[in-house]
Amino acid sequence: MQQRRRLFLPLSRRTFVKLAAASAASAAFVGCGPSGAEAEEVDNLIIGSGFGGSISAYRLAQAGHSSVVLERGRRWTVQNPGDDVFSDMGFTEGDRYDHRCRWLGTTAPLPGLPPLRPLVPYTGVLERIPGDGIDIVCAAGVGGGSLVYSGMMVRPRDDHFESVFPSEITARSMDPYYERVRELVQPSSLPDDLLELEPWAASRTFIEQGMRAGYDVQRLLCGFDWDKARAEARGELPPQLIRGSYIFGLNNGAKATLDKLYLGMAEATGLVDVRPLHWAQRIIRDGARWRVEVDVIDEMGVVQESIAFSARRLFVCAGTANTNALLVRARDEDTIPDLPDSLGEGFGNNGQHIRARRGVGVDTGAFQAGPACIMLFDQDAPIAMENGPAPLGSEMQMLIGTGQGIPSGRGRFIWNAADGRVVPVWDPAFDAEARANTDEVIRRLNEMNAGEDATARMNLDQSVTFHPLGGCVLGQTTDLYGRVNNQDGLYVVDGALIPGVTPLSNPFWTVSANAERCIERIIAEDYAEATT
Ligand SMILES: Cc1cc2nc3c(=O)[nH]c(=O)nc-3n(C[C@H](O)[C@H](O)[C@H](O)COP(=O)(O)OP(=O)(O)OC[C@H]3O[C@@H](n4cnc5c(N)ncnc54)[C@H](O)[C@@H]3O)c2cc1C
Repeated sequence: MQQRRRLFLPLSRRTFVKLAAASAASAAFVGCGPSGAEAEEVDNLIIGSGFGGSISAYRLAQAGHSSVVLERGRRWTVQNPGDDVFSDMGFTEGDRYDHRCRWLGTTAPLPGLPPLRPLVPYTGVLERIPGDGIDIVCAAGVGGGSLVYSGMMVRPRDDHFESVFPSEITARSMDPYYERVRELVQPSSLPDDLLELEPWAASRTFIEQGMRAGYDVQRLLCGFDWDKARAEARGELPPQLIRGSYIFGLNNGAKATLDKLYLGMAEATGLVDVRPLHWAQRIIRDGARWRVEVDVIDEMGVVQESIAFSARRLFVCAGTANTNALLVRARDEDTIPDLPDSLGEGFGNNGQHIRARRGVGVDTGAFQAGPACIMLFDQDAPIAMENGPAPLGSEMQMLIGTGQGIPSGRGRFIWNAADGRVVPVWDPAFDAEARANTDEVIRRLNEMNAGEDATARMNLDQSVTFHPLGGCVLGQTTDLYGRVNNQDGLYVVDGALIPGVTPLSNPFWTVSANAERCIERIIAEDYAEATT
């Protein structure tokens, strides 16, 4: 089998042909390329094993329908708490991070981190997608965003929700779906006994200072097993969470990851076949079926094989940016005729802005225990800010926080054929108010407590979002249930459906509740039709 180094983002057709030709010249390349590959036939194909993909797979299986789930990333399995599975995270030279945190790249995945050591690219847990006016950070690996998230569960206030969602989807109509997700995740807020401990000084200070500044400060519901944190604090497990190193994955299994929730339950039915390191490249409409061309890669991102699937029903759940990459590319290359013009539009950054305060007047810890699970709100401003405990490496009396406002404008996704990659396009004017509201929170916290804005000094003043949403918006590119307009059997069930923002809230609860709502209707109507 020929081995080709995988480029970091899906290849354009032209680039692929060039590479194949070069390979043929140098090494008697005889492969017929993905377009000629014989397709494996399946009824239901799901691209992506994050929240949308896992929920779709599980609910389909419950209704008796089998599926294959393609996941570009690898499996990350913590067999025994304390195993060295995920990369550590650190801001200092002696406490760095490694290739396991980065999806096929050599630069730091997150703002504020020192440069990554020169390393071979690896299929790590976080992708950073450079854009025009904004970068996107998103997950890769079996379980998608659940590998890297903090488990924070926030639900938008009803009036905010209804100001952005289609009028047919009321806040009340969402109640059963939010509840369905909550029952499964079984979240709880940071308990008192942990908050009192020394490693949680940053969280305590954030609460005290936020209240002193007059904000509504809440300990959020969080998908975490706090007993693991207690075990770390007692020295029974290696310190990771209590050192603030939780974003790149957690080696003690404390996070409510999807392998313990929807995806694990889906696989346990025996009807769901998850294929890790299967990277979907191109979608082609093929009569009444959907052909998906896939690169099977190794953990270094090297293509081992190019294969194809043919499905009656295709669920694109690759996360906002990569769902848009696949579909906008298909429209531009006309492999799916008649895709809506609205596809790629309506992208939002969830109004996110990272900020740091230094010299807050209280020691907050060199290594601040996580996870991020405290949020202050001024619903009428409107603005929220979560505390982001971090492994800073030295005592700086620092608090890092991420503001979440409501962007007034929307960006878009375009397909850059020359580079073979998707580009999020964003104008800073779209969220000028959210940025100003975030800065006002920082000003007020400093004024009522102590401290100065250290955002630039910490290299955190970058336009970047961890919460990309939209591009295949409900009621615009799809119907109200994720069925892509004009495309029988093609569905989107992930963050790309959300209209650019889950106001003042981290998105996974809303993304998941909406996925529950969509797949329930799709199974009830489309599969009933199929069997009658
Ligand atoms: C660092 C970080 C922390 C976060 N913390 C929180 C939090 O505490 N609370 C919260 O509510 N939200 C949080 N989020 C956001 C949350 O993770 C996302 O909103 C959520 O995961 C979106 O779900 P999804 O189904 O749209 O996509 P994802 O969960 O991102 O899943 C998409 C999956 O598709 C796979 N994929 C992509 N392209 C392809 C392809 N071409 N072929 C095959 N597979 C593909 C990806 O590898 C990934 O596994 C966080 C995000 C980040 C990055």
